[in-house]
Amino acid sequence: MNHDNVLVVGGGIGGLSAAIALGSNGSDVTVVEKQADAHSSVYGVGIIQPANALRALDMIGCSDACIAAGYPAEGWGRMLDADGTVVREMPGTVIEGASYPPMNGLTRPKLHEILTNSAIEAGVDIRYSTTFESLETRDEFVDVVLTDGTKERFDLVVGADGVNSKVRPHVVEKDIAPRYIGQSAYRLNIPADPEIDRIVLQEGPEGMAGFVPIGPDLAYLFYNAQMDRPRSDGRDLAEELRAHLAPFGGLTARIRDEYVTDSDAIVLRPEEALIVDAPWHRGHIVLLGDAVHAITPHLGQGAAQAIEDGVVLADVLAKHDDLEAALADYTDRRYERCKLVVETSLAIGEWEMGRLANFDNVAATNHVLEVMAQPL
Ligand SMILES: Cc1cc2nc3c(=O)[nH]c(=O)nc-3n(C[C@H](O)[C@H](O)[C@H](O)COP(=O)(O)OP(=O)(O)OC[C@H]3O[C@@H](n4cnc5c(N)ncnc54)[C@H](O)[C@@H]3O)c2cc1C
Repeated sequence: MNHDNVLVVGGGIGGLSAAIALGSNGSDVTVVEKQADAHSSVYGVGIIQPANALRALDMIGCSDACIAAGYPAEGWGRMLDADGTVVREMPGTVIEGASYPPMNGLTRPKLHEILTNSAIEAGVDIRYSTTFESLETRDEFVDVVLTDGTKERFDLVVGADGVNSKVRPHVVEKDIAPRYIGQSAYRLNIPADPEIDRIVLQEGPEGMAGFVPIGPDLAYLFYNAQMDRPRSDGRDLAEELRAHLAPFGGLTARIRDEYVTDSDAIVLRPEEALIVDAPWHRGHIVLLGDAVHAITPHLGQGAAQAIEDGVVLADVLAKHDDLEAALADYTDRRYERCKLVVETSLAIGEWEMGRLANFDNVAATNHVLEVMAQPL
């Protein structure tokens, strides 16, 4: 079976990672991205990269650049109470035989730039402002009509088009969709601060505030708020966020009073979750990333899992001549790992919303970090 000619739908974190891995293995890879350029779909805020994300990025030659451009922290995180007193340290997990920091913080635009440049170096053809009009599965390939008017035949189509995937209904039942979990995240970039030298979480009476260093000069603030699915029209995000942060003392109070002033600088995003039952492919179409396992931000693992998907997909395709066997192997290697992350992230969200008693979020986080440190 030949799987040399691959279409990746979606040039986000997972799609670009898969494209680099497949392109480096010698496949002809085309990425179609509906946005107009590399940065149009990316918010200017930051991203948490746990050690397992760095390992997967290393496998596609991108970890050094991420660490050089980011903030490699000496520990995973620290928990503060609402007044700002340190209650717990979270050292994070070491990956055996490797020297990745337990957490690297990076801006999303920088991550996109690194992945895009690597994809181009791997010979990937990235077409912006383009998506598919139709996918027709044949026995040995997929006929695709693209919105630029071209008709092309691919051995494999990879649906990496995110949480609202249009490829997903070609693989699983049409009514399978992510659900809004009842929390949304406010995020705001702030100048670097000596107190923010790893993920700093501060537990308030109604939600979790947090801080992440994302470069020598930059950090970001996030706040997970319980609310109905947010609409974007006419909101004063700075006023809302200040109100949410009013009960806090310590670090959060200081940052609130100094920097939460400009609504235009604040990003508010709904948190959605999904784990699709195996298999994650039908015929010659396969899903990865948020398209098949949407992960809420509570463990900073969504992008990490999307990158791992891309690396494992390229690995199974290199190992198996038979496409069906390769894609079955892909889901086998990915499903339980992603399910653990989806479900633990959801549990942390439930606990933050006061719906889960006797839950230890630090122990749950440590458990996931330990499992993620195991080989892919
Ligand atoms: C508030 C918040 C904070 C988060 N923080 C973290 C974090 O710190 N660390 C972490 O690891 N994860 C984090 N995540 C999760 C992470 O952002 C996602 O899991 C990750 O981006 C998934 O990658 P993806 O490539 O699957 O999807 P995406 O990154 O969403 O990429 C999908 C791409 O496909 C394109 N696209 C969509 N539809 C089409 C189409 N029909 N045709 C062509 N292109 C299309 C989009 O424009 C986009 O470029 C967070 C999520 C949220 C909501």
